[in-house]
Amino acid sequence: MDHDSGPSTLSSQEDEGSGSTRLIGAHMPTAGGLKNSLTAGLEIGCTAVQLFTGNPRQWSHPSLTDDEIREFRATHEQTGIPFLVAHDSYLINLAAPAADVLERSRSAFRGELERAHALGIPWVVTHMGSHLDQGEEEAVKRLITSLKEILEETEAEGCTAGVALETTAGQGTGLGWSFNQLGDILKGVGDNPRLGVCMDTCHVFAAGYDIRTPEAYRETIQKFDDQVGIRYLRVIHTNDSKKGLGSRVDRHEHIGMGEIGMEAFSLLLNDSRLLHIPVVAETPDAQTMHRVNVARLRRLAASGAYGIVVTAQLFGHYSDLFPGGTVDVLLPKGAVVNDLAVALTDLNPALSDLASHCRFAIADDLVDGTTALREGCTVAALPPSSGG
Ligand SMILES: [Zn+2]
Ligand SMILES: [Zn+2]
Repeated sequence: MDHDSGPSTLSSQEDEGSGSTRLIGAHMPTAGGLKNSLTAGLEIGCTAVQLFTGNPRQWSHPSLTDDEIREFRATHEQTGIPFLVAHDSYLINLAAPAADVLERSRSAFRGELERAHALGIPWVVTHMGSHLDQGEEEAVKRLITSLKEILEETEAEGCTAGVALETTAGQGTGLGWSFNQLGDILKGVGDNPRLGVCMDTCHVFAAGYDIRTPEAYRETIQKFDDQVGIRYLRVIHTNDSKKGLGSRVDRHEHIGMGEIGMEAFSLLLNDSRLLHIPVVAETPDAQTMHRVNVARLRRLAASGAYGIVVTAQLFGHYSDLFPGGTVDVLLPKGAVVNDLAVALTDLNPALSDLASHCRFAIADDLVDGTTALREGCTVAALPPSSGG
């Protein structure tokens, strides 16, 4: 390649590669069947898809049929979409003051996790409930108890789907809009590989955390890391906001068209600490605008100085966790095998024993956790039981 023409062609090629590897998508409609969210997602360029596995405005759902599960899993494999996440029903309030609502919520949320597990969806995003003016402190305690119980009960049933607590806008009496409170809730539940966080940019901004300039973004993410912990982050909802900073009103807007503006999304998508975290738009006008918002995010993701793309190949009982048993992961430059193990665990809590139990190989040679990864390399993750 000619040196003089190098920079522009080379960088556009690199950008293309990392941009398409980045896990980017949208909340897709499930009308006509759950699997339609995947085919529609593929059609508009999603590498991550969020969906409701039940009617979000109903308490009870007919349980999924074996056919439905088989079809969904087959479509997942066909579309090859690497990351899926479910969003829970709007009715669920795991902090509800009324005993009957609380019990109904807990049971409904167990159902959410069971359905996600059956469908091969690794995470369920949930809002943190409302205290309904019956005492915020007590509500936080109830929420912590709910989460502990639900995680224990579902783990006993072999469920590997995890809970991602979503940062909220602080509308009404909703819990979890302040980073400090979210941090307290996580501490209260205790470390669990099936417990994570979903950050929603619109909610964070409406709750009063600015991300519009490099300085504001840096300060807010630092605060998030100090009070919540970036290590808990499993998915980011990239939504612009119709309402202003600190409005405590939750109204989503198209990427770059609201009060937050384009720069914040560029900063977020090019933050080297967050490269492997999937981003999902929940913006308005799904039918016409999801395609535009996904493309917009992908363009922003491709504009930065990126890290490296590494292919993870999973064997044994891990091989059905990603379509084709492989997943491309975007990691910061200088990443080592252990960083890949952590990223894979973030993408699917069923892999939580990966770093401690698996052996890793590059080009048939066993490597240890401190081995540096190169752009384009394939890392095989071999469960302890597999031979060779
Ligand atoms: Zn959201
Ligand atoms: Zn919202």
